[in-house]
Amino acid sequence: MKPEPTAPSTRLSLWREASDTHVRSRFAGYYYLLAWGLLWFTSSEPLARLWAWAGGSLLLLVFFALRSQHRPSAQLDPAQLQRWLDLHWLAILLQSMTWGLMLAGLQLLPGIVASHLLIMLSAVVFATALAFTFPMRMGRCTLAILLTYLPSTAVKFHLGIGDVGESMALVAYLVYLGMFLYRWNREYYIGLERELRLLQHGEQLDRLSRTDALTELGNRYQFNALLPAWLANARRQNGQLTLILLDIDYFKTVNDQHGHRTGDLCLQAFAERMRQVFRRDSDILLRLGGEEFAVLMPDTSLEQAIPLAERFRASLVEQPLQLQAQVQELPLTCSLGIGHFLPLCDDSAEAFYKRVDDALYRAKARGRNRLELA
Ligand code: GH3
Ligand code: MG
Ligand code: MG
Repeated sequence: MKPEPTAPSTRLSLWREASDTHVRSRFAGYYYLLAWGLLWFTSSEPLARLWAWAGGSLLLLVFFALRSQHRPSAQLDPAQLQRWLDLHWLAILLQSMTWGLMLAGLQLLPGIVASHLLIMLSAVVFATALAFTFPMRMGRCTLAILLTYLPSTAVKFHLGIGDVGESMALVAYLVYLGMFLYRWNREYYIGLERELRLLQHGEQLDRLSRTDALTELGNRYQFNALLPAWLANARRQNGQLTLILLDIDYFKTVNDQHGHRTGDLCLQAFAERMRQVFRRDSDILLRLGGEEFAVLMPDTSLEQAIPLAERFRASLVEQPLQLQAQVQELPLTCSLGIGHFLPLCDDSAEAFYKRVDDALYRAKARGRNRLELA
């Protein structure tokens, strides 16, 4: 079964439609001017009624400027985008009506004998271009096509130009165009939906690649990307950046005594405790691998970060981790290294990390369950 082209109502799809409409609309003016010029040039007496030709050109130029200069805002506000689309469609409809009337007028104006075939083609070609270019809105596009097509066709009937066969062909083509418009409309929305789905998958993949599956904290890959970026930021803006590294003490014995599954639960509970203590939105919590964790704290001084790190260490002692689906608590401690970025001392992200990692190593060497300053 064919997928249903459900009209996507997300902000992104509206933005896409607006931007597609603008891109496709802004050069339309060239074609109208070109066709008008051709009609003028091939008419019986190009120099007669020059004011009518010039007036028509001026009108087309105004529409050209309107449609090419009317740009959608870069913001994704749906109400704003909808308003932009409504306005732009108004310009398209007005231009279609003007073009239809200009073609009809050419047939009625005495003194100008323009090619009948060219006038008919100008209506047919522009109607086809409308269906092909703006299939996003069926109703509005149908109206634009009728406005382009009907005035000159009505005049043709009125003046009795052409035969019955030609008239039937024109009507048949209009029906055919309607069917194609329907098809192009479906294709447009199927393509749009596919694009949105791809975008969503991309975002999902990106998020997964930066997330640790067990604890749902950021992973090493994210840490490697973020540390240099925040470091450069701090250097540029003379800002502060604090890094805390945490390593669970004797974690191997937890696995040995309680099994790997309990070890995993323990890591999850540890991450949850981190979330409870380091709660600022700007704090970035990460699992660097195994039983090693980190907290990256932008815009945070050592004086602000040390009490938090100390509180975290003490909380594990005072309130042991309560594992999911297990009644017993698991007494655990962790060692921490903490450091503050110093532009004169740390010439790279690696140097900064190493300084804090050395502090963590010292915390281990000096008996564990303690905080050491880098
Ligand atoms: P130290 O106090 O010196 O840090 O001792 P430790 O036992 O915590 O450190 P060590 O590096 O010797 O061992 C880390 C252990 O962490 C070894 C490994 O079995 C365990 N570990 C690493 N990743 C995972 C994991 O994803 N799940 C579980 N359950 N255990 C893990
Ligand atoms: Mg350890
Ligand atoms: Mg370790």
